[in-house]
Amino acid sequence: MAAIAALGMNAGQFNNEVTYTKRGTTFALVAQKAQSVNLNIYAEGTGGKPVKTVAMRKGEKGVWKAEVKGDLKGRFYTFNVKQDGKMLGETPGLFAKAVGVNGKRGAIIDMAATNPEGWESDRALGYAPTDIIVYESHNRDFSVSCKEARYPGKFLALTEPWAIEHLKSLGVTAIHLLPSFDYASVDEEHLDRPQFNWGYDPLNYNVPEGSYSTNPFKPEVRVKEFKQMVKALHDAGIAVILDVVYNHTMDIHNSNFQRTNPDVFYRKNDKGEYSDGSGCGNETASEHPLMRQYMIESFKYWADEYHLDGFRVDLMGVHDIATMNLIREALPKNVLIYGEGWSAGSCAYPVEKLAMKANVYQMPGIAAFSDEMRDAIRGPFSDDHQSAFLAAKPGHQESIKAGIVGCIEHPQVDYSKVNYSKKPWAIEPTQMMAYVSCHDDLCLVDRLKASIPGIGTDELIRLDLLAQTAVFTSQGVPFMLSGEEMLRDKKGVHNSYISPDSINQLPWDNMQKYPQVFAYYQGLIALRKAHPAFRLGSAELVRKHLEFLPVGEGLVAFRLKDNAGGDAWRDIYVVLNANKYACMVDVPEDAYTSVVAAGKVNLDGIRSTTTSKLEVPAQSALIVHN
Ligand code: CA
Repeated sequence: MAAIAALGMNAGQFNNEVTYTKRGTTFALVAQKAQSVNLNIYAEGTGGKPVKTVAMRKGEKGVWKAEVKGDLKGRFYTFNVKQDGKMLGETPGLFAKAVGVNGKRGAIIDMAATNPEGWESDRALGYAPTDIIVYESHNRDFSVSCKEARYPGKFLALTEPWAIEHLKSLGVTAIHLLPSFDYASVDEEHLDRPQFNWGYDPLNYNVPEGSYSTNPFKPEVRVKEFKQMVKALHDAGIAVILDVVYNHTMDIHNSNFQRTNPDVFYRKNDKGEYSDGSGCGNETASEHPLMRQYMIESFKYWADEYHLDGFRVDLMGVHDIATMNLIREALPKNVLIYGEGWSAGSCAYPVEKLAMKANVYQMPGIAAFSDEMRDAIRGPFSDDHQSAFLAAKPGHQESIKAGIVGCIEHPQVDYSKVNYSKKPWAIEPTQMMAYVSCHDDLCLVDRLKASIPGIGTDELIRLDLLAQTAVFTSQGVPFMLSGEEMLRDKKGVHNSYISPDSINQLPWDNMQKYPQVFAYYQGLIALRKAHPAFRLGSAELVRKHLEFLPVGEGLVAFRLKDNAGGDAWRDIYVVLNANKYACMVDVPEDAYTSVVAAGKVNLDGIRSTTTSKLEVPAQSALIVHN
């Protein structure tokens, strides 16, 4: 924390923007170069004239202050900053914790009154990274088409028994919610109109999104319902991870950053133009003391106020390493942090100082997604029609092996043959997120259809299960897109960020149609949870206990040996066979029990035989132990 105190602002300065009591409310806005700041108080969240306007007074370090006496609960407010002789326009400030509809005005609420019953005893679950199994979900996609849902598309859907039961039955230990802070692109005033967005267009970083609440006009409702969701998930043993997007804002000119501290929060290039490393029109400047402190306070706020268990950092490669490490330091040890170790365009900051995947080794306790493993399994991001290992194409073994060990250094992984990274980038295996699909890009079913022409349903299911076997037996942190367990598709849409429900919704009817898919995912997850060998958590243990077997193309095989991680099973053999024919793999002669074979999982054992050759059926995974 010492490092944080040295940033220039008082610790907690942003977080203290509005302090409410029944006797009066104090306001403290950071506006470093302002000439004057007006505070407007409104009766409504939108429309009408201010009931009061107060000239704020300038305090130390560019903080402007005002105190308004009386009970302001239920009122709304904006700030208007004057700089260089110009009024910058009304804004709910930098750190509103509640807002009116569409996030135009801050709202004064009693935060304590938003706590659901039992909230005092609720806390983050504190799972170790080795115990995390992530289910990536969009609030609307997940529940909007479920006939049982009482609150389709809302935070509250995740408090409903059918939803909790589904997640518990699948066995995932964490739900990762796509942006659920207040974003701009869905009009909260007209939720009766068909609208959809992933939400990667931040408006107010510290407020839940209104369109996922049952009433976006009442500021306390979204806050309370978000907490109800967290509580219900925690009660079920499911950790809650929030997708956070500090790398850019919806736009520059009307953003809360720009209307309070012009050009402080954004990077510019050598020509003096706004840089666009996010690919969304702007890029924030995490290395600037104000943005750095802002991010630290915002992460901390979500962890403290909403008891969050983790964060997924969008385009983490836009942020600088030092800031990410300070965020790590500011959060409790077991709050998970992982991010996209890349940017969408080039950033106006030296790449060696950015939180890129290649620099993860400089960020202990922070993980990044492995595109090595993802693309080696299913084909590159850049070409939906190109296949890879799943089509038994040669040359992908080494990249998958890198993904199996968690992108750490391993004597049997030759990084010169890995697709993107020519050297290991993780120090510990839990710094790598293992996945084959996420919200971005084609989901697995669509990818298989696009890359393997003429693929039929049976083959598609075989390859889908094979792909996820690699993910769930990786020493990294396994991650799956919601709906994969019910064989979802998105009708071939690559970027469905704005597509209608018909593309994005989960196909709940598929639960009856493809029960074998759900059962297999469920089985793999149960296998991982029951057997510490699959989640050793330390690079040293992985190097000691995980050994690859020499096999031909279209195959990856490894052994977890000598009761790895204290496992009850002595040696575990995992073979992935993408070939269209059965393959034989040599093993020391012994009695083996299969637990995964030909698309089925049974931890009690499918079949036992004494043999020195394992036969692995076409396009499937085999897992045996002795
Ligand atoms: Ca919104």
